[in-house]
Amino acid sequence: MKKLMAANWKMYKTGTEAVATVKEMAEILQGKAPEGREIIVFVPFTALEKASEAMSAIEGASTGAENMYPALEGAFTGEISPVMIKACGASWVLTGHSERRHILGESDDFVGEKTAFALANGLRVMLCIGETLEEREAGLLRNVLERQLKLGLKGVAADTPVESLAIAYEPVWAIGTGKTATTEDIVETHAICRELMREILGDKADKTPLLYGGSVKPANAGSILALDNVDGVLVGGASLKADSFTQIINA
Ligand code: PEP
Repeated sequence: MKKLMAANWKMYKTGTEAVATVKEMAEILQGKAPEGREIIVFVPFTALEKASEAMSAIEGASTGAENMYPALEGAFTGEISPVMIKACGASWVLTGHSERRHILGESDDFVGEKTAFALANGLRVMLCIGETLEEREAGLLRNVLERQLKLGLKGVAADTPVESLAIAYEPVWAIGTGKTATTEDIVETHAICRELMREILGDKADKTPLLYGGSVKPANAGSILALDNVDGVLVGGASLKADSFTQIINA
């Protein structure tokens, strides 16, 4: 399985800025993702079309939206449908990111609804899961991951192509804080995630990429990518600059 090297640009970059970063990435990477790597950049809606056009200069790279509403069209002011995302040239969408769960108040059920709808409408989905520090300290790690995975994948059709889904484990306390989970934390938690994925996805679980996210940087990416059950990384802050994201991609 290729390692998925994913960037989440959050609410950063205008269209012009996004294109400039993609062009810089294309130059450093000489127009091609390294062997064994697939690159995905999750881009703000307003920059998605331009960034997707620019991304076609990098073989093995694609773009995604950071959010989506589970309807094809309608009276949903401020929302974006999977049709619109695909029309921008993007093929992925992120669901369940902790900032949407905790700042925008998205429920597990709504995350599941979006995940199923996106997959049913031809987008590839990266479903994010992860516990808060309070939940971890209260011994609730497994319960939280189980609930988020079960509800997040609830409506997913059994015939969904395996390459359409990825799971990103991102401990909330490690996102944007500079605190990376320890090697032991990642190995232990990814083993739990994989076990839960097997219960829910059956045979497809081992072919479904499981990414780690949370303060991944050029200095720690190589050692994280080498761990058991780590099939890629989802990178926020360190993906904003072409130089540091390409170092991670090449780690
Ligand atoms: C993220 O936004 O998904 C993330 C992991 O952010 P950071 O790398 O900045 O912790």
